[in-house]
Amino acid sequence: MASSHSGQTETQKLLAEIRADYAATADTTGLSIPNPAVLAAIERVPRDRFVPAAGRSRAWDNTALPIGYRQTISQPFVVALMTDLLALRPGAKVLEVGTGCGYQTAILAELPVDVYSIEVIPELARTAHERLHALGYSKVHTRTGDGHAGWPEAAPFDGIIVTAAADRMPAPLVEQLAVGGHMVIPLDTGWDAQMLVVGEKQENGELDTRRVLAVRFVPLVNAKEEGTG
Ligand code: SAH
Repeated sequence: MASSHSGQTETQKLLAEIRADYAATADTTGLSIPNPAVLAAIERVPRDRFVPAAGRSRAWDNTALPIGYRQTISQPFVVALMTDLLALRPGAKVLEVGTGCGYQTAILAELPVDVYSIEVIPELARTAHERLHALGYSKVHTRTGDGHAGWPEAAPFDGIIVTAAADRMPAPLVEQLAVGGHMVIPLDTGWDAQMLVVGEKQENGELDTRRVLAVRFVPLVNAKEEGTG
């Protein structure tokens, strides 16, 4: 599925940094070492193919980078951690809100799981779709639209990952999560701060949530406000 890339050393350096970040944040995340399947996915997905030419020399850095349209490709450590927190079995069905460049989508596809991904900015949605297909991730399902509504026709999902910060847990997403499934989402906490939260859906339909880590994401926009709906 993945194509090869040059720079084995920078890939190994990135993996070492991700391991170090896990160790440094273990008291709040509860995860001291990355799941080997997640690390293997980070190793295989050519991150340099997901960033614009101007950022290519920094593609294997453990940092977020601009991808245009005032959006970013997330930090690899955060991508790994969020993927890990979904606790997916191979073959599970997962919804991603915020495709962006499609990097997180590809990481999920590598696990492998069945990915449904929604992006609100049409140009990003189109480019990500083309890129994912060009790289061989042709089974991923992509759609342009406001992710607040989820993807009801494909529900229920074993996991839902939101890669933009919301002011509250979107109710349709909680509904579309299977019992026992995990939702991973950055939530605004006020004071210009965000907290990565993981919730597990209970039999009674409620999410049992836990705070994981302070993070910084672009905002989850309301498509009506943006005029793209
Ligand atoms: N998953 C990406 C990160 C993308 S940044 C990665 O792998 O790096 C977050 C993305 O969420 C942006 O592309 C932004 O346009 C998108 N987004 C913001 N609000 C949204 C909404 N309501 N529905 C769907 N996508 C949204």
